[in-house]
Amino acid sequence: MNTNNKLIVITGASSGFGLEIAKEFAKDGYPLLLLARRVEKMEALQLPHTICRKVDVSDKQEFEAAVREAEAEYGKTELIVNNAGVMLLGDIATQDAQEWKTMLDVNVMGVMNGMQIVMNDMKERQSGTIINVSSIAGVQPFGNHAAYCASKFGVTGLTRVARGEMSPYNVRVLSIMPGAVSTELLGHTSDQAIIDGYNDWKESVGAVNITASDVAKTIKYAYELPQSVSLREIIITDTKQDA
Ligand code: NDP
Repeated sequence: MNTNNKLIVITGASSGFGLEIAKEFAKDGYPLLLLARRVEKMEALQLPHTICRKVDVSDKQEFEAAVREAEAEYGKTELIVNNAGVMLLGDIATQDAQEWKTMLDVNVMGVMNGMQIVMNDMKERQSGTIINVSSIAGVQPFGNHAAYCASKFGVTGLTRVARGEMSPYNVRVLSIMPGAVSTELLGHTSDQAIIDGYNDWKESVGAVNITASDVAKTIKYAYELPQSVSLREIIITDTKQDA
């Protein structure tokens, strides 16, 4: 382990962006805490200096317990990537309200839990970085994305407020807003016609080449800039994404 590297907490590290972010930071010997519900997927990575815990980010108590355990081993959290999220696309006129609630609980409450768990220590130390994974759907509308947009516009808004509140303490609060990238995310939508329509659009415009690894490398780049440099908001899409 590179002893200059401090603890990095990554939520939603069992697939997609989170898994690639974990691999990217592990290459440089950062100590990691990986959180998600499917702990076996994170353990299977066998990354060095890494603690994996089964945590639902909407449960603040279990989330905080895992962070404190990792901090006892590796020292205070220097970076948290609040990446865990769900996208359950649907027509607001007919979609089951439970799907809205799941998205708001995970995508908004999960991010706020993560921030509150680390931000007081960061303020005290006058150091630290919080990177929230929003979405391009956190700044512009897309059809069948009403509740998802509500959650991601929420992440954009809360991140902007926190950035202002944390800047006097030298703590960076950033958001990254990816466009469509192939991961497991779309697969949880319960309406097959919406899934097919989404995939047809991506393929018809050719927005199929950006990868989760591209997003992970961008997050690492933003983190490794000097503490005095804040890449406040990053919109990253496939060049061929037209919306
Ligand atoms: P994946 O579905 O591949 O990954 C989502 C991750 O979140 C999984 O590790 C999942 O783990 C975890 N997760 C879901 N619910 C919870 C929960 N309640 N508690 C803890 N972990 C949870 O999708 P992506 O990698 O694509 O998504 C990552 C983030 O990026 C999300 O916030 C998503 O909204 C955002 N995003 C994705 C885009 C894309 O096109 N892929 C575009 C823009 C933003 P587990 O199920 O094991 O708990």
